[in-house]
Amino acid sequence: MSSLYSPSIEKLIESFEKLPSIGNKTAARLAFYILNASEEETNEFVNSIINAKKSLKYCSICWNISDTDPCPICANPKRDKTQICVVEDVRDIIAMEKTHEFKGVYHVLHGSISPMNGVGPDDIKIKELLSRLMDGQVKEVILATNPRVEGEATAMYLSKLIKPLGIKVTRIAHGIPVGGDLEYTDEITLTKALEGRREI
Ligand SMILES: [Zn+2]
Repeated sequence: MSSLYSPSIEKLIESFEKLPSIGNKTAARLAFYILNASEEETNEFVNSIINAKKSLKYCSICWNISDTDPCPICANPKRDKTQICVVEDVRDIIAMEKTHEFKGVYHVLHGSISPMNGVGPDDIKIKELLSRLMDGQVKEVILATNPRVEGEATAMYLSKLIKPLGIKVTRIAHGIPVGGDLEYTDEITLTKALEGRREI
């Protein structure tokens, strides 16, 4: 399909279209917003992307994205290191932190086991989680993967691996709608889910 836009505008629209939940119309609107913005505003926008990419790194303990390694949560002496809450995505940490209920630490898997999409246990941070459990300090692992098929499968898989180590394994359960996303769950529902976690 030949475009009505000039190649450089077309390229900008294409770039925006690659972002999650951005359709063609929104991409065009964003592209034209940028074109009409001042040079200062445009530079600030571009630099914030470049700086974020440059300065952010992964926490070598929990795989959270952070400006520092270890991340502020792992580095905080007040956090209970005997409790690890396992989440799929960095954004799930933010969702959990908003509840102010969880005082332990996290582990970000960066995905979930999904044979359909060719994602196996070795493709997410499972080995890294297991090595954290080896020092005998951890007493409970809370599996807070999303209540979807992949999230449930991942939770079951982890439970089978971790339980033989003599560590309590719980799964957040109540309140989160099946097929729901932790990230979009409100604080009260998430707090209830955390309180209602069960051993698996
Ligand atoms: Zn960390």
